[in-house]
Amino acid sequence: MAKRWKMPRVLRVGTKNGGMFRKIVQTGDPVLRKVAEPVDPAQIGTKEFERLIDDMIETMRKAPGVGLAAPQIGVSLQLTVIEDREEMLETLDDDYVEERNRSAVPLTVLINPTIEPVGDSRVTFYEGCLSVAGFAAMTERWEGVHVRALDRQGNPIELRWKGWPARILQHEIDHLNGYLYIDRMDTRTFADTANLNAADDE
Ligand code: ZN
Repeated sequence: MAKRWKMPRVLRVGTKNGGMFRKIVQTGDPVLRKVAEPVDPAQIGTKEFERLIDDMIETMRKAPGVGLAAPQIGVSLQLTVIEDREEMLETLDDDYVEERNRSAVPLTVLINPTIEPVGDSRVTFYEGCLSVAGFAAMTERWEGVHVRALDRQGNPIELRWKGWPARILQHEIDHLNGYLYIDRMDTRTFADTANLNAADDE
């Protein structure tokens, strides 16, 4: 998921994870429209797979974004990384963070995730995507979700998240199923982020 449009570009946190930045593919690339292949559990923990995860973490942090799915770097696998760092939240207005129910999310690696809504409450906010660079639109999401997946070590995990972290999960797992937020957005709100910035400054 893309950063908020006003996120300062100077923010950099050294990752020291040994990963390499990979090119983020943009909408129109067929890999973003495919259902990604499930990860074979035998792959988990291999050198190649570990490197892929490190590269995804590095790419997400450099972008910067709060999530990245493997198809976004051209790899059609059911794999996503998520992280919303405290340092990023501190750069945002308190009201902005509170309204979105946004809170820090530790680095989370999800393999072969499945998702279901919790309750029937829906929330709508502007959402962007590193693969639809430069744009955002009002997008409705479930307020809470329950996710089952494997973690980086291949252990089963379950997450029950609300608010912005739940939005990130929905956005990233959508990527693994060939969906982008533009499939779910209110099309009349689709905007260049520079225009949103201008409106925000008024
Ligand atoms: Zn995205």
